Amino acid sequence: MKKISNTRRKSNAFPKYKTGDRIKLPEAMRLSIIERDTKNVSIHEAGHVVAALLSGNDVVWGRMYKFNDGDVFDQSTRGGCVMSSHARRTKLQSAIIGYAGVVAELLQDDKLLDLWSVEEAIEDDTFSPSPTDWANIKKIHPTWRRRALERCMDLLKANWQQVELAAELIVEDFKFEIEFNPDASEHDETMGRIFLRENLWRDESK
Ligand SMILES: [Zn+2]
Repeated sequence: MKKISNTRRKSNAFPKYKTGDRIKLPEAMRLSIIERDTKNVSIHEAGHVVAALLSGNDVVWGRMYKFNDGDVFDQSTRGGCVMSSHARRTKLQSAIIGYAGVVAELLQDDKLLDLWSVEEAIEDDTFSPSPTDWANIKKIHPTWRRRALERCMDLLKANWQQVELAAELIVEDFKFEIEFNPDASEHDETMGRIFLRENLWRDESK
């Protein structure tokens, strides 16, 4: 079992308070923070899941967990992690999977985002991959990273419905499985597997 991502994003949409400040948060505000974190974390992990499934992994787990005691102003109330069954993938595929979390987060707001905007968001740290995501991205030489990022964006844009579906399922505990499609064209084969909506289902065995 190989861990391919781990997310604990800092939130910056709400005002900062000093450590020790005792803030009684209105319930509606607390819920809206949780809702935002749930949406962002689930779409981030869904990006990894879809990229991993399309890169030759048969079984992928995406998980979201709660940070109940966290300071909601400073830290995300939700975190996530994606595990894959095995790592039969090239370095380029690893980098694509590594990028897929932040790319999914960026695409959820704007499907028409271009490569340069995404590169800029990552470079200026607006949306930076987590250390575990970087570990995958750094498997390829820096000169190849733009290509990996471009492939990642094309992949997620072309399979956006699956990303959204995976995000819905990620809110619950689930397992994704995929079947190899023998009719795949040579082009599809380079991404490993064909990802079909009907191949996505919840693991009922747990
Ligand atoms: Zn990630």
